[in-house]
Amino acid sequence: MVKIDQEIAKELVANAEAIATPGKGILAADESTGTIKKRFDGINVENTEQNRAAYRELLFKAKGCGEYISGAILFEETLYQKTANGEAMVDLLKAEGIIPGIKVDKGLVPLPLSDGETATQGLDGLGKRCQDYYNQGARFAKWRAVLTIDKAAGKPSNLSIQETAHTLARYAAICQENKLVPIVEPEILTDGDHDIEYCAEVTEKVLAAQFKALHDHHVLLEGCLLKPNMVTPGAECPKKADAGEIAFYTVRTLYRTVPPSLVGVMFLSGGQSEEEASVNLNAMNKRGPHPFALSFSYGRALQASALKAWGGKPENVGKAQTVFLERAKANSQAQLGKYQGGAGGGGAGESLYEKKYVY
Ligand code: 13P
Repeated sequence: MVKIDQEIAKELVANAEAIATPGKGILAADESTGTIKKRFDGINVENTEQNRAAYRELLFKAKGCGEYISGAILFEETLYQKTANGEAMVDLLKAEGIIPGIKVDKGLVPLPLSDGETATQGLDGLGKRCQDYYNQGARFAKWRAVLTIDKAAGKPSNLSIQETAHTLARYAAICQENKLVPIVEPEILTDGDHDIEYCAEVTEKVLAAQFKALHDHHVLLEGCLLKPNMVTPGAECPKKADAGEIAFYTVRTLYRTVPPSLVGVMFLSGGQSEEEASVNLNAMNKRGPHPFALSFSYGRALQASALKAWGGKPENVGKAQTVFLERAKANSQAQLGKYQGGAGGGGAGESLYEKKYVY
């Protein structure tokens, strides 16, 4: 087996461990220009470069956020962006002790000759891009693959499982060779009316294939992070599940598939409300201690209320930062299994689900 350079391995392990620090998780602020437009449309804010910078500045400058957040995933524009006052966004993160990360995939395309399944593109030239991102301050990366559940149509197909596992493993190996900790994200969407048992069955199959592929590609698990969906019923399933059931099935699935050498499992929120995402994470950590950190890498579930509180108005920046910090703290407590519930009030309970979600 080809071994990774020992100096690079040390750096990868140190960064992965720093991201998976107890009581901390990741802020996913890497919405593509198209996705942030959808968020801004919801609060009637124009999707300009200036407004995107103002919004990201608000988040990164929330004083004390580094107490709860260990890493922030950025879209390429933000990695190179400056605030209106000329401060580099990466420097704002570093001032809070937050490690900058970068979304490196180039989005979804249809998987040819499949029944509407998707593949993620972006491998061409990835090594060179990783080097550039590293030089700009990034120390970890994210690549999102998407699978869908449709029992009657046989989805996810074996082709979809093999394609996403292989591509994520190739991406992870390229990142590690270039000193970036890869976040491996095989997201199974919640779309569908399947029950929680079926989601567990599919997630188990997908993760088993994923770790086989990572092994085949010589990926160093101690310097790698997983970003999976939680095991939940489909969005249209009449039988809902409580946090205890979600925690039981999710932890069981991880224990059956994820080697303990992996440092951290950083969940996506996948359309759960802010409060659900915190409560579910808390329930999982209450079942611990676990062999790997179970933490968050939330986009919508960390930002939805803060975005609303901001509404694009400079005078609301302080209020929005308070809301953001409250949510980040709730998730930090959930990582420790100490969240009591109730952060953010009623608004935090609103569903953030979007059908056929793209990022
Ligand atoms: P959500 O937490 O909004 O699902 O997004 C996280 C993410 O980074 C998806 O790739």
